[in-house]
Amino acid sequence: MLSLTFLGTGAAIPTLDRNVSALALQREGETLLFDCGEGTQRQMMRYGAGFTLREVFFTHYHSDHILGLTGLIRTMGLLDRTTPMTLYGPRGAAKVLGGLLAVGIERTRFPVEIVEVRPGDLVSHGEYDIAVFPTDHRADTVGYALVERDRLGRFDPDRARALGVPEGPLWRRLHHGETVELPDGRRVGPAELVGPTRPGRTVVISGDTRPAPGLVEAATGADLLVHEATFGDEEAVRARETGHSTASQAARAAGEAGVRRLVLTHISARYTREAPELLAEAQAIFPDTAIARDGLVVDVPFPDA
Ligand SMILES: [Zn+2]
Ligand SMILES: [Zn+2]
Repeated sequence: MLSLTFLGTGAAIPTLDRNVSALALQREGETLLFDCGEGTQRQMMRYGAGFTLREVFFTHYHSDHILGLTGLIRTMGLLDRTTPMTLYGPRGAAKVLGGLLAVGIERTRFPVEIVEVRPGDLVSHGEYDIAVFPTDHRADTVGYALVERDRLGRFDPDRARALGVPEGPLWRRLHHGETVELPDGRRVGPAELVGPTRPGRTVVISGDTRPAPGLVEAATGADLLVHEATFGDEEAVRARETGHSTASQAARAAGEAGVRRLVLTHISARYTREAPELLAEAQAIFPDTAIARDGLVVDVPFPDA
C-alpha cells in the first residue's frame, strides 16, 4: 500500500476551501509528513492521517509550510507520546525548526531530532530511500522523492511443485535468489522459478519551485509527481518573480520526466476549489493531471499491478 493524503493544498494563506501546505504519505502502515502548514494537526484528524508518524520532511521554511509544527508537536506531547520524531529540512533546519519546537516551552516531552539535508542526500529506510533534490524558489529549498528499491521477481509455485520442490523454506530461499538442494539430491536454481526483479514505485514532491532541471531529473519515470502550480498562464510573470510555477510549467516538467501521473497543488487563493482553468492548461500538455483538493487521497499502485 502506498497512498498520499493531501492535507493542505493552498498557497500562502488558508482559505475556506484550502488549508496551507501539508501532505501525508502512507506506505505499509508508516506515515511520512511533507511540510506542516498552520492547522495541519486538525487536517490530520479530519482526514484520518493519524499521529503515529515518526518523520516530517520540510521543503523550505516559508511560514505557509512550517507554522503547524509547534501545535502538532504540543498535541503529541499532551497525548503522552514517547516515540522519537525526526525532522528533516534544508539549510537552517536547526535554527528554524528548533525555534518552532521551543515556542512557549523549555523542551518537548519526547525526543525530537533535527537533521539538515542537502540536495543529493539519501535518507535510507530499508525498503526505500528518500532522495533530496534541488529546486529553485526564493530561499534554500529542496524537493523529495520516495524511491522504493526493486522487488523480488515473481515466484512460480506451479513450476516449483512440478519440479518437486517441497513448499516451505526452500521456496523462500529460491525466491531470494539461492540455489537449493532437494531431499533427493537434485539442485534447483532460482532462474527456473523466479522472474526478473520488478521495479519499485517512485513518488516525487516538488515543494515550492520555479521550473527546475533537478526536479525533472529526480522525477524521471516516476509513478506520481506532486508539483506546485500556484498560478495559471496569465500570471506567468508573477510566478517567475515569486519563485513559483504555472500549471503549464508543471505539466511540461511531468512530460519531460515521463511520469505516469501528475497532481497539482499549492494553488493560489485566487482560483476556485476545482480550478478548472489550471486543470485545462495542464491537461493540454499532460493529460493525466489532477488538481489536488484538501482531503484528496491518491493511491500509487505498482506499475505491474
Ligand atoms: Zn508556499
Ligand atoms: Zn515558499
